[in-house]
Amino acid sequence: MPNHILLGIEIMQRGEQLYSGKAKTVYTTSDPGKLILLFRNDTSAFDGEKTAQLDRKGMVNNKFNAFVMQKLEQAGVRTHFESLRSDSESVVKRLEMLPIECVVRNIAAGSICKRYGVEEGIDLNPPTFEFFLKDDARHDPMINDYHIRSFGWATEHEVEEMKEKTFRVNDVLTQLFASGDMILVDFKLEYGRYQGELLLGDEFTPDGCRIWDKATREKLDKDRFRRDLGGVVEAYEQVAARLGVPLD
Ligand code: ADP
Ligand code: UDP
Repeated sequence: MPNHILLGIEIMQRGEQLYSGKAKTVYTTSDPGKLILLFRNDTSAFDGEKTAQLDRKGMVNNKFNAFVMQKLEQAGVRTHFESLRSDSESVVKRLEMLPIECVVRNIAAGSICKRYGVEEGIDLNPPTFEFFLKDDARHDPMINDYHIRSFGWATEHEVEEMKEKTFRVNDVLTQLFASGDMILVDFKLEYGRYQGELLLGDEFTPDGCRIWDKATREKLDKDRFRRDLGGVVEAYEQVAARLGVPLD
């Protein structure tokens, strides 16, 4: 029996490296419709200007992402997630990614505070939505529906779908985090095309969202790294434990 078949389960073989980003490496597989995402321990902020290696982060984020993607699938949100391959790798559907970041904010924090001079921590009612162009060299500029359509980054239908799906994710995950006495402050999602459908791609982990403890508003996300608060991965593990994400 070939060594990639264990107990009758075929382990997807890793092919060539397709792309290495700031936190993940993407590999092809023997199936042209599937990719392997390797979640690395690398962490970065401020468009890659500040970087570090954090022990266990790749494993924690890989398992956290798998857990959240499965919750979203159960709630009817179609995602690229297929299966966990190892502690730090997942198999996903290969998407044609749109070069767009979708951000929903329930509470003001981060760039929106600087941009509009608002205080961190104020409620945004209704939650607000922003598009950003995925372009580190240009510091991911904010863009609007018209930019997306005029420059051909996505169709009008896809623009509407991204908004609808991202708000649906917000509804599902706001409740999920509330069940662990946490507040989902904001988050970023990326989408891609797959066989004529728009699927949620990339990741949902504490690297790409803000999560606060409900009672103390202690930061439990990547702001701990951005602001040198320490205990970054420990905070991610605490969030995972509160949600019941199996890590070991
Ligand atoms: P970045 O590119 O921002 O540095 P990462 O290090 O997380 O980010 O790299 C992962 C890359 O893989 C991202 O560019 C992301 O858009 C892309 N990606 C995520 N999911 C998929 C998918 N299912 N198919 C194709 N590409 C994907
Ligand atoms: N975010 C992300 N990748 C980016 C930009 C933002 O994951 O390239 C996430 C970020 O972690 C936060 C939300 O999107 O949860 C909103 O980020 P913001 O615009 O406030 O930017 P920041 O000040 O965090 O760079």
